[in-house]
Amino acid sequence: MNQYEVVIQGQLVLPEQVVEGEIGVQNGKIVAISEGIGNLQATTIVNAQGKYVFPGLIDAHVHCFSNPDEGFEVTSAAAAAGGVTTFLDMPYDLPNPINNVDIFKEKIERLNEQSIVDICLWGTISKYDGIEQIKPLAEAGAVAFKMSTFETDAYRFPRIPDYEIMKAMEQLREYDLVAAFHAENDEIIADLIEDYQKAGKVYPKAHMETRPPYTETSAVLKLMEFAHWTDSKLHIVHVSHPRTLELIKLFKEQGTKVTSETCYTYLLLNCDDLDKYGPKAKNNPPLRYQEDVDGLWEKLKTNDLDFVTSDHAPWSWAHKEKGKDNIFLAASGMPGLDIMGSLMFESMVVDKGFSPVHFAKAMAQNPADIYGIPNKGRIAEGFDADFAIIDPEVVWTIDENQFHSYSKISPFHGQKVNGKVVHTIVRGETVYDGEKVTKEPGFGAFVPGKAFKQ
Ligand SMILES: [Zn+2]
Repeated sequence: MNQYEVVIQGQLVLPEQVVEGEIGVQNGKIVAISEGIGNLQATTIVNAQGKYVFPGLIDAHVHCFSNPDEGFEVTSAAAAAGGVTTFLDMPYDLPNPINNVDIFKEKIERLNEQSIVDICLWGTISKYDGIEQIKPLAEAGAVAFKMSTFETDAYRFPRIPDYEIMKAMEQLREYDLVAAFHAENDEIIADLIEDYQKAGKVYPKAHMETRPPYTETSAVLKLMEFAHWTDSKLHIVHVSHPRTLELIKLFKEQGTKVTSETCYTYLLLNCDDLDKYGPKAKNNPPLRYQEDVDGLWEKLKTNDLDFVTSDHAPWSWAHKEKGKDNIFLAASGMPGLDIMGSLMFESMVVDKGFSPVHFAKAMAQNPADIYGIPNKGRIAEGFDADFAIIDPEVVWTIDENQFHSYSKISPFHGQKVNGKVVHTIVRGETVYDGEKVTKEPGFGAFVPGKAFKQ
């Protein structure tokens, strides 16, 4: 009988079915999957019987450095505690965005020294003449490229002009890499906010009212048309409204290569939470009406929504507090890595009856497939031994002060949750044991994208 380094026993969530069984791990890889318990021998046995063994969750949308107080160490600790074994870090870092290869390589070094889980890195381009950086960034291992149709910051997070977008899409097609977009209509939103501010309408829900659904749909339509004519791969991040997904479906039916994600916040909160929590519940695009939230769930059920991310944005209270009396002054975004996995398990599997297999697809497999992350995202022989073990019987209460993230402000604070991530394993080694993070910074590694050249 074979002896493995590690054997994990439990309800294994495989790509097509859940089986009670065992996984044999050798050198950080899955080398055997066996139905039934007691067949595989190992030095270390992880007994997760009665619990779900999911592929390690992949959060494709994380902003480590939009607040430099955060950084890889705490973000990756939050990821480990949340069952996230790989995350894709966004390129809009302070002070400099990741739009050239020197900055990119420096970020890889920091990542390898400081991270506890595995990380892929996004690249981006500058507002003008940025496309020259695509080749070097792609070959240095950028997993995909993020751009925006909305100007959050002229230097760090700019609105890319249409002609530059077209050129970027054509280049990215050559590397088979995805162009992903923050898609909001900059002109309409800027004018609406101006009107609202002039009228003194600065209450929390004004944030939602100045970013109506058509500011999302109109931006997405343009991008899909560009993707159609350049025959390139387009991904729309943080979709907030179901109509966006209906339009995406129409283009998909015509052969346009477009995929979509939403964030856990758009599925679990609605715009009344802006009234309730003020700046804490401010994100871009904004939270929508409950009927729109229900529409997003319907699209997730019918597979018209590919995956779910956190859009983890580690703001401090100081960044949010500014918007106490004028919502437009508050920073946008919420932390999520610590809690998203457990919250999504509860809402998808426990409350709404989605299969654990569907949860694994939306939280791990689909992002791995869409971005072409090698050997991640599913429990199958030859894949990395990355697992998120969730105990459906544990009932616990979210405490924002316990977040590993620097950001301790969440509208989910105080919420009771059914089901919890109780064990996280990266390449066969425990990084979180249910109570604490068990690995030192430096264990996590850079995972290059598919155009990487040694
Ligand atoms: Zn984001």
